Amino acid sequence: MTSRRDFIRIVPLAGAALLASRTSFGADAPKLDPKDPQAVALGYVADATKADKAKFANYAAGHECANCHQFQGKAGDAFGPCLIFGGKQVSSHGWCSAWVKKA
Ligand code: SF4
Repeated sequence: MTSRRDFIRIVPLAGAALLASRTSFGADAPKLDPKDPQAVALGYVADATKADKAKFANYAAGHECANCHQFQGKAGDAFGPCLIFGGKQVSSHGWCSAWVKKA
């Protein structure tokens, strides 16, 4: 028999599990569209060399998603999840203005 206390403990866990199962954050997640409003706002491009250097002065040659702290893909992955664009994959050779050097 489930007590009220057990029920109160189980419900948040079940909710978190359901949320995790419905959140695409892996290799099956869709690729980020550079025309996505958040992508446009942050200047995301799938090819870092095409970054708008006039608009985003923080871009520097060599900066790309693969060496960004927010990139969650493995070394060598062509695409991977990004902490900024949840539920989408970004190109490892992409860039956006939220780039932070990987530690
Ligand atoms: S935050 Fe980093 S990994 Fe994410 S899109 Fe911008 S540069 Fe790429």
